[in-house]
Order: sequence, then structure tokens, then C-alpha cells
Amino acid sequence: MAQTETPRTTTPTTKKWVYLFQEGSADMRALLGGKGAGCAQMTRAGLPVPPGFTITTEACNAYYQAGRQFPEGMWEQTLEALHTIEQQTGKRFGDPQNPLLVSVRSGAALSMPGMMDTVLNLGLNDATVEGLARLTGNERFAYDAYRRFIQMFGRIVLEIPGERFDEAFEAIKGEVGARQDTDLDAAALKRVVARFKEIVQEATGRPFPTDPYEQLRLAIAAVFRSWMGKRAVDYRNFYKIPHDLGTAVNVQTMVFGNMGDDSGTGVAFTRNPTTGAKELFGEFLINAQGEDVVAGIRTPMPIRKMAEVLPQAYQEFQQIARRLEETYRDVQDLEFTVERGKLYMLQTRAAKRSAAAAVKIAVDMVHEGLITREEALQRVEPAQVEQLLVPQLDEATVEAARREGRVLAKGLNASPGVAVGKAVFDPDRAEELAHAGEPVVLVRPETVPDDIHGLIVAQGVLTARGGMTSHAAVVARGMGKPAVVGAEQVRIDLRERCFAVDGRTVREGDWITIDGGSGEVFLGQLPVHVPNLAELHELNELLGWADQVRRLGVWANADYPRDAERARSFGAEGIGLCRTEHMFMEEDRLPLVQQMILAAPEAARAKRAAGVEAARQALRAARQRAQEQGPAAAPELAELERRLAEAQTKLQADPAWQQYQAALDRLLPIQRGDFYGLLKAMAGRPVIIRLIDPPLHEFLPKHEQLLVEATELRVRGDNPQRLAEVERLLAAVNALREANPMLGLRGCRLGLLYPEINAMQVRAILEAAAQLHREGVETHPEIMMPLVGNIEELRRLHALFTEVAEAVQAETGVRLDYKFGTMIEIPRAAFIADQIAELAEFFSFGTNDLTQTIFGFSRDDAEAKFLGFYLEEKILPFNPFQTLDPEGVGELMRIGVERGRRARPALEIGICGEHGGDPASIAFCHRLGLNYVSCSPFRVPVARLAAAQAALADRGAAAARDR
Ligand code: PEP
Ligand code: MG
Repeated sequence: MAQTETPRTTTPTTKKWVYLFQEGSADMRALLGGKGAGCAQMTRAGLPVPPGFTITTEACNAYYQAGRQFPEGMWEQTLEALHTIEQQTGKRFGDPQNPLLVSVRSGAALSMPGMMDTVLNLGLNDATVEGLARLTGNERFAYDAYRRFIQMFGRIVLEIPGERFDEAFEAIKGEVGARQDTDLDAAALKRVVARFKEIVQEATGRPFPTDPYEQLRLAIAAVFRSWMGKRAVDYRNFYKIPHDLGTAVNVQTMVFGNMGDDSGTGVAFTRNPTTGAKELFGEFLINAQGEDVVAGIRTPMPIRKMAEVLPQAYQEFQQIARRLEETYRDVQDLEFTVERGKLYMLQTRAAKRSAAAAVKIAVDMVHEGLITREEALQRVEPAQVEQLLVPQLDEATVEAARREGRVLAKGLNASPGVAVGKAVFDPDRAEELAHAGEPVVLVRPETVPDDIHGLIVAQGVLTARGGMTSHAAVVARGMGKPAVVGAEQVRIDLRERCFAVDGRTVREGDWITIDGGSGEVFLGQLPVHVPNLAELHELNELLGWADQVRRLGVWANADYPRDAERARSFGAEGIGLCRTEHMFMEEDRLPLVQQMILAAPEAARAKRAAGVEAARQALRAARQRAQEQGPAAAPELAELERRLAEAQTKLQADPAWQQYQAALDRLLPIQRGDFYGLLKAMAGRPVIIRLIDPPLHEFLPKHEQLLVEATELRVRGDNPQRLAEVERLLAAVNALREANPMLGLRGCRLGLLYPEINAMQVRAILEAAAQLHREGVETHPEIMMPLVGNIEELRRLHALFTEVAEAVQAETGVRLDYKFGTMIEIPRAAFIADQIAELAEFFSFGTNDLTQTIFGFSRDDAEAKFLGFYLEEKILPFNPFQTLDPEGVGELMRIGVERGRRARPALEIGICGEHGGDPASIAFCHRLGLNYVSCSPFRVPVARLAAAQAALADRGAAAARDR
């Protein structure tokens, strides 16, 4: 075979683009990629690694910068490194007598399983294949390697659709009567090779490249190209991995696991990646190449079986696995090949693991003295904690489903969690349905990297083939999605979009439930249950360490005692937001609330007409004067008292007022009961109760609904009484309708127009606290005013609340520990935070409204209408309703904190918008010096960990500054 180019020298001035494995090390990950750095580290440690070299990630970036050209000197350095490998192996590239064959594999700094392309057996051509056959004494093996090479090279490098090769392969199998691939003999494989070469010629208009150097050049370029391939870009977008890291290319001597029954290949983890148990866990295939394991084409045997078939190699592998885990102080994901009894290590990298495994491994490793508690806290992603607490199936549900014959199949429990969704059979359709708001479960014979967009949107994935390390399993575990793989009973018909099991058919759109913890697949939607943190011992231990490290408090948003109890069991140290309007929405209260709302505008008019407010204010002023200057300064006091009493008597006689009062009187004990429950559940802890916030029409029936009913009643004419009622409601709803309710009569504006509603709520809170005090229960209610943006709003409400509080304390004889405070959720409030803090004893940032108002994005419309587009087009880097926008919202918060604390240094400040449970936002709140974050009960454990990680990052930054 002619060798076209073999320059062996490099000008010393060119950049170093290529590193032999022995030149690299574990800490060169950014430059060599994970795979390259792993091979380098293993080579350095004297482990059996087939010789090879790595072309750097910088070379990949330089390739793109140069308009898809190899950077200067890279190719020459590649050839030089190849020459070194030739010397190390005693083989020569393209030499028919003793050919060196290599694999060309991608390897980014961050692991992207199955995302990038790999070409094996490179260097084969019509001449070297003969050499391989002679050397191995196995012509069939050589031609099998050759046909695999053309197939892989054709698909990945030359971008010929894989099906063309598959179809040709199946056709030849049919012609020679072979049932399995292994039934094909050398002669048949030669026919396959010839046919594959024809396919290449037909598809590309050029013959298959026989020059190994040309093969290598094209393969390296293909790996670089695949970095910007659709599935790699999708994957990076999903995981927020930057696109400019680049991939390294690893060129490594081939070793063959398919050289007979003393050979094989496997993938193993040093600990169980699903449960975290300390045991070697993996799969092994005798007489196979690595691609067979990863692709899930043949179902492999568990790794411990290797001890029986290849005992020596197994023992060596066990020792190496242990050593690598100790070196990296983390669980490793290993790839290896046994060639004629000799073990070769191909890869070591930190293993992807399920949420449960991540927590268990981190905690176990602390107990084993391998890592510190701080390291353990940094090893677990906050999102993994959330996954552990996600709803699951309980025993009774599963039992009932079994009895009802709803169990369809059982596969491998590849990634825990329960997914309930409509079955879909292709990733594009999954995307379509998911974007329309449908939960979907992706069902595939097996997944391939091109399915990634379907996996991203699916609730979970079910495959009929493949093992625990198949693509579907690895990717789903990484994403924290439930997966059941290798459910072999499931017969999938992709064309008909259905699957059948034992005569039952599930079609696209039918509901299924998959349990990635047990591997079971159920027909229909099963109810799910929420796990209890107390049962999760390792997580509890880890969160205990987090509590010692974090500075931020973690509170919860909870409206009901049951939520408060859950929040408390998850470690919440207070309630940061109880949205009282949710209580009003409950069915038994709604009629009373409606009565209150319908009467409120008339009652307010009556109050003005009776002059109650004017009389009260005049009296208040005179009293103040008397207090400050003595009784002589306010001789009209008695007269003013009489006038107020008179105005009140007049008001009491007004029917609208009576209706309004009656509703409030009946709501008072109900609300008292609500607050009693909440304060009791959080005994001894602060509970922030926010007074009614949303627009009043939200409590009334829908306008359209009333209109239809009124029209029907009018046409039928059989129920004039109901018609009058509906018309009255319609008029009220019409009167309350707003063009932009989110910026309308909400929050404190309501409280100012109808102060009796707020007064009733304040009374209910404080009476509940007084009652609990008598029962010996300690309470710390904090009463919060929403949507304040103007100091006069707060001043008036503060005066009203003080009056109510004084009255309740006088009536009950109990001195209460309560606070009045406000939300900061209108930009103006942040600017006047110093004035607000004169009256408010605490602030809570309502970042939902702050985001809405600072961006001018309607909370109701943005996500449905244009935010998706903004994110796709990268007009915004992230959804500001999920992750706090540091430049706008964050800046307002900074101003609010600074001015608020200037006026009141001990001001308690927290956040209760959705961002309170988002790890990145929590880190921001930590840096801002808030006292606490408040989030939904489920996210409390997540927030505990995220707050600890923020504190650790701070310490790290401080240590770096000190150095
Ligand atoms: C907020 O605005 O952030 C908030 C917590 O209040 P709501 O979502 O109820 O408007
Ligand atoms: Mg709000």
C-alpha cells in the first residue's frame, strides 16, 4: 500500500496540537477532553492502555476558526504521533504485512455520552485486510472488521444514511440464508464488503478511500464536524454546556474483543450507578466489539459472569477498577476490551449516576474517608435532590394494577422515577405533542443519539432492546428521567405507531405508566405518591451537613397546614408566603367571598355617604393633639366621638353594609381556623401571611359563563328569580372587569378601597395566635402587604393594622409577637425601600411580579406567547420567570436591600417568588445577603443543598482571594 505522506518533523514554532497518551494527565481535561485525559492518566499509572494520542480541543476550535481547515502543524504532529505508536506496537499504518489499525473517537471535556461519533478499525483496505486475516489466522474476523469499518466510515464520515448499509447487509443475509450476523462466513462477508463499497461509490460518486492516511484525515475532520452536529448541539443546549469548548480527537490502537471466545468487551461502573451500592456493576459481551455493548444490539451478560469465563482478566479488571476509583476519588465508568485473554483499558471517566446513587455514593465516600463533607455537598446536583422526592408509585397501586391486569411488561429498571404519559413512537412526534402540552412517554425499539430531542421533551423512555448501559439508559439517567429499557416482550411497530404485548395493543396517544425503579410498564395513568424525606437516610445526612454550611435560611411557600407540615418535614425553617386568597377559593368559602365582593363597592359608597371615615380621621387627629398637648388642645373630642358613633349607626342600617359585614363576620372564624392550623403546624417558627392579593373578579363566575346562562334563562323564561340573580352577578362581574388585571385592583390597592377585608384577616391571624398562646403554643405571625409601591399606601394600612392589633391584644389580654412587613414586588418599592423600611419590619421580594414589571412582560401571556421563541432564538439566555435576572430584577433587589437596611439595619429580608427554589437564583440571594429564601415545600431540600453550595462557592472565592 502506497503511503502518500509521512513527514516526520515538526517546526518547533508551531503550537502543540497533539499529545501522546504518555504526555498527558488527568488535570489536562479541558485540553485533552475527558477520554484523552483518562487514557493519559491510566497510561501514566502503568495500566494496560492501547497506545494512542489525543488531538486537542484547541485544535477543534482552531479548525472552526480557520473555516473548517486543520490548523497549521496539526496534521504533521498527527503523523509524528502515529509514527511513535507504530514504534510502540511494532505495527505500521497501511502495512499489509503487519497493519496498525486505529480507532478515532471524540472526547469533549464534559462527558456527552453517545453524542459524538466514533470510527473503529480505521486503516483497513483491500491489502491490509488480507494482512489482518493472515496475522489472526481468521479470515472471517478480518472481513467482518472490514465491513464494519466501511459501514461506520460511510455513515459517520461520508454521511451516507445508515439504512442503506443495513438493507444491503440484510439482503445478503437473506441470500445466503443466514439468520444471525454470526452465520455469515468469510465469503459472504467479502460480498458484503464489495456491496458496501458500491454503496459508497453510488452515494458519493467516488470510490471508498483506500489510503489509510486519507481515511484518518477524513475521520478526524468528521469528529470535529460532529461537535456542531444537531444532536450534540441539542444536548449541550439542554445541559447548558457552552458551544465553544470543542472536542478532542483520540486516535488509539485497535484491540479486538471479537477474536473468539477468549475475547470480549465490556462497560462497567465501580459502583452501582442506579442504587449507589458498592459493587462492580456492568455488562460484558464475549466475542464482541465495544459498539455492540453501547448500541444495545445484543443483550450482554452481567459483569460478574466474566469471573467464570475469563477469570484472570476479571481479577485484573477488579483491581484496576478499585485503583482508579481511589485515584479519582469518584465512581468511574470504565470501558475495556479483552483480546485473546489480555485485558486493555479503553476509558475511565466519572460515572453518570442516578439521583439516589449520587447521594448514597457521596455520603458513603465521606464515611470511607475518601472525600470531605464539603466535597460530598458539591458532588450532588440540587436537581438530583428534587428527583428523589418526586412522586412514585406505592405498593397498593402496583398491587391493584397487577390484579387488574394492567402490567404490560417488565424491562430493566434503567433510571428511577415514574413517568405517566401518552405513548409516542418517534422523537419528532414526541416534540410536537409535548409542545402542545401533552405529557409523553417515548417508546422506541432502542434509542440512538439522533433521538435526543424526543428524550428531552418526554416524561420518560421505554425501549424494547438494550441493556443498562444502552444509549437510552445512560441518557435518561443523566437527565433524571425515568427509563425502562430492554422490555423484550414489547413488540413495536413503528409504521403503525403502536406496540403489542400478549395480544394487547397500545397505540400512539394511549396512556401508559412506566416505573423506572422497578422496570414495570403499566397500561393507563396510575396515581403516584410522594416519598417521605425521613426514609431517605443518606439524603437526610447530606442535608444535615448542608445545614451546617449554609448561611441562608430556607423557608417554604405554603397555604395550608398539610403543606406546612410537609415543608417542615423537609426542613423548612419558616413559612415565607401564605397566599390567603387560595383559602378564599375553597368551595365552602366561595359563596361567602362572593357575597363579600358583591356587597363591597356599595358598602364602600355607604360608608362614604355616612361620613364614617371622615369622622374617624377627625377624631384620630384630635386624640393625637390631646395626647401631645393635653386635653385643652382638643375641646371638641367628645363631640367628635358622638359624630363618629352617629355615622356608624347610620352605616349599620345600610343593607349593602349589612350584607358585607355579614359575609365578613362569617369569614372571620373560618380564616381564624385556617391561620390556627398554619401557625400550629409551624409552632415556634415565623409564618408570613400575605393579605388578599388578586383581582376580585377572580372569585366570581366567569363573564362568558354568566352571559350564556343569562341568555338561556331569558329564552326559557321559566326561572325569573335565577335570572335576576345571574343578571346581578353579571353586572358585578362587568363592573370588576379590568383590561389588565395583573396591574389593576390588586394587593394593597384592594386593602385601601375595602379595608374591612384586610382588617378581618389581620384580626383572624392575631386571634388565632392569641388562642394558640393560651394553649401554650409559641407563634410568630408576620403580616405582609402585597404590591406596595408608594409610602402613603403603607402608612394608611399600617395605621389600620396597628389599630386592629391593639384591639385584639386588649380583648384577649395576650401580648403577641408579630411583625408587619411588605412585599417588594413593584420596582418603585425597591427605590423607596428606605422609606418603606421605616414602617415595615420585614421585606419579601416578590420576584414574580418584579420580573413582570421590570421586563414589562405579562406573567399571564409571556410564557404562552413569546418567551419560547425568545429562548429558542437566544434573545434571552434563560427564562427570567424561572431563573432570576441578575441585571434587572437582581439590581432592583440590590437597591432594595441596601436602602432597606440603611433605614433599619436588622431588617429581615427574604424572597418568595418562584426563584426562591432555583439553585442559580439561590446563589444570587446568598451573595446579596438575604436572610432566607422561600420556595415550594418540594424544593426545600433542593434549596438547602443549593444554599450550602452557594456558601461553599463563597468560601472558595474568598480562599482564592487570600492566596
Ligand atoms: C411574587 O410576585 O413573586 C409573589 C410571590 O406573589 P404572587 O406570585 O402571588 O404574585
Ligand atoms: Mg406578587
